[in-house]
Parts: sequence; structure tokens; C-alpha cells
Amino acid sequence: MRDQIVAGNWKMNKDFDPGLLLVEEIQKMMSEESPGATKVVVASPFIHLARISEMASQSDALYVAAQNCHPESAGAYTGEISAPMLKSIGVEYVIIGHSERREYFKESHELLARKVKAVLDQDLIPIFCCGEPLAVRESEQQGVFVNQQLSDSLFHLNPESVRQLVIAYEPIWAIGTGKTASSAQAQEMHASIRQHLAEQYGKEIANEVPILYGGSCKPTNAEEVFSGPDVDGGLIGGASLNASDFMAIVRSL
Ligand code: PEP
Repeated sequence: MRDQIVAGNWKMNKDFDPGLLLVEEIQKMMSEESPGATKVVVASPFIHLARISEMASQSDALYVAAQNCHPESAGAYTGEISAPMLKSIGVEYVIIGHSERREYFKESHELLARKVKAVLDQDLIPIFCCGEPLAVRESEQQGVFVNQQLSDSLFHLNPESVRQLVIAYEPIWAIGTGKTASSAQAQEMHASIRQHLAEQYGKEIANEVPILYGGSCKPTNAEEVFSGPDVDGGLIGGASLNASDFMAIVRSL
């Protein structure tokens, strides 16, 4: 049975106090209506992580994620945060390869491969993001494009490491645009990702990897988008900044 996960990616939003308040609200709702087997992950900016990690240690289903880390474990990299540092404050997941980091910070497949390894070396779980731009979807090359992203940044891993991964399929044309993939489009791509993993690592391992959908998920569309058998949850941007919306999405899984 694969993990069912709903992760909220706050991006560069929420000052310190409003961020903690949001987590308090999420925790309150979680205690009133148990999220069942779903793992609820909060990916806040770095400034909140240590405090949220303390808060999360009090609840069973709440987990903490960073949105990025550096591939080296320490050294002269001014302004960066390493995977061992995240581990030292109780972070459990790290988002790697979000399309905004690929685009604005020019993160390459090679760099992402090193980051994934750095995260796994600390026994943290990478949430590896992949997804195609609109032009690729329009030319119906999305399967080839996403498979290449996976091969380039993940296929250096050994089978045991691949078992630890979470993958997030986030079509770039759906991120922050209000356009969501249909449940059929999401399921088709998730099945294709699983098939690609199976060809490299075998069916058993491929069946263990949770694949989340991300891109304009909202309380009104989440149930529909999550309905495919290969869709194991969501990576939620905008709607994770409001506790009621976020928990409505958790509920719909
Ligand atoms: C994201 O950036 O990971 C994301 C899914 O954003 P949104 O939900 O706002 O489209």
C-alpha cells in the first residue's frame, strides 16, 4: 500500500507568525477530524521549519518539508542550507526540482540528481517534481519529456533509494494558472511515470512510489483530480495557504 500524501508548498509566502498560525489551524482541524491514513506535509520557507518541526512532533500525521537544499553537506556556499542541517531540525521531506527552481534558478538535471542523492544520504525523502511546459503538451510530447526528466535526475539511484522517493507530477501549464489537468490527463501521466520506473527498477518498486499531482488543485476539483488509481495525493501551492481550503483538499483524498 503506497503512502497517500497531501503536501502544501507555501513557496515564498507567510512571515513567521502567520506561518505558525496557519500550522496551528491545520493541527486543530486535524485533531477534530482525523485525516485517516493521509500524510499531511507542510513545506514552509526555511525560517519556519525548526518551529513547525517541534509542533509536528506532537501530531501523528503532520510532517515537515523544506522547499530546496544544497547538494553539498557543508562549506563555503553563502546563503545555502544543506540536507544535514535540515535533518538536524527534524525535517522529513525536501522538495527537489520544482519548476520554479528549474526556471528562475536555472537548476539543471545534473544539479537535481546531486540534490536528490544528498537528501537520500540523510535518510530524508525527496519530493521530486517533474512536468512539461504548455508547448510540449500541445505537441503531445509530454510523456517523452517527463520520462527524460526522470531518467536524467533519478536513474543514477539504486533500487533501495528509489523505494524512498515521492514523485510530484506538476504540468507547468497548470501551476498557479487556475487550469488543472483533467483526472484522465493526470492518471495517464502518472501511469506512464510508473511504467517508466518499472522498466528501470521493476514493477514491485514502481508500485511503491507515491506519485502526487500538482497544479491548481482546489477544494472544488481535488476529488476529481485524485480519482485515478495512480494518483496518490497532491502537491498544493496557492490553496495550501488557507487552512480550510488545504484541509478540504486533504479530506477529498
Ligand atoms: C506548486 O507550485 O507546487 C503548485 C501546485 O501550485 P498551485 O497549486 O498554486 O498551482
